Amino acid sequence: MPGSRLRYRLHEAIGKPGDWSLSWSLADDVTFGTCCGFCGQERQRVTYEVERDAQSLWICQRCVGRYDLGGAIDGVRLNPQAIRAQLHGLTARLKQQTCRDVISQCLGATDDPTILEVALHFDRNLQLSPSYAASLFSVMMTLPKPIDRRIFEIQTRSKAHQSEFGELDHASRSLVWLALTPQQQRRLTGLGFAPRMRARIAANRSSNGQISVTI
Ligand SMILES: [Zn+2]
Repeated sequence: MPGSRLRYRLHEAIGKPGDWSLSWSLADDVTFGTCCGFCGQERQRVTYEVERDAQSLWICQRCVGRYDLGGAIDGVRLNPQAIRAQLHGLTARLKQQTCRDVISQCLGATDDPTILEVALHFDRNLQLSPSYAASLFSVMMTLPKPIDRRIFEIQTRSKAHQSEFGELDHASRSLVWLALTPQQQRRLTGLGFAPRMRARIAANRSSNGQISVTI
């Protein structure tokens, strides 16, 4: 609903968020399948462990930003600014490590030399170009465990990368499309580069709230 904001009410058992402290353990769910232990939001990727006495919960990025949680390093309590900086660094490192792990799994699953180029490109840019994304995703989909393509950021800001996307064949554009943010999708749609499956995504999204596309 336009103008309405989701209100997050914490379960009574959680009590005061400030009584919980970060353990500095993070988890990266490459299927976006984790539920936040504070607000109950589903489909989370990175979650953070918080502890209170003997209890521990895994909570989402929004809750970590919303509440003043405790956090200490070597017994010294950090102020909220230092906590944010610490979490920012840990989150970025974890996400990069996850992407590197997935790329090395793909390297092990194919003889295609392009994937080696993908690995070098990711090391330099921490993002994938549209054409490297298409190459990687085609191998990634053959891996035994499902991995959501949105764990990778795709470069679409420059004209060169936008054209690169537009020049991909239909199957490759479809592969990359679901890794793009809604904003990226809108921009590429404006350029006439959207793959034809868009109508089907919209239909599936409205019927069950989830996007499922078969290519
Ligand atoms: Zn939450």
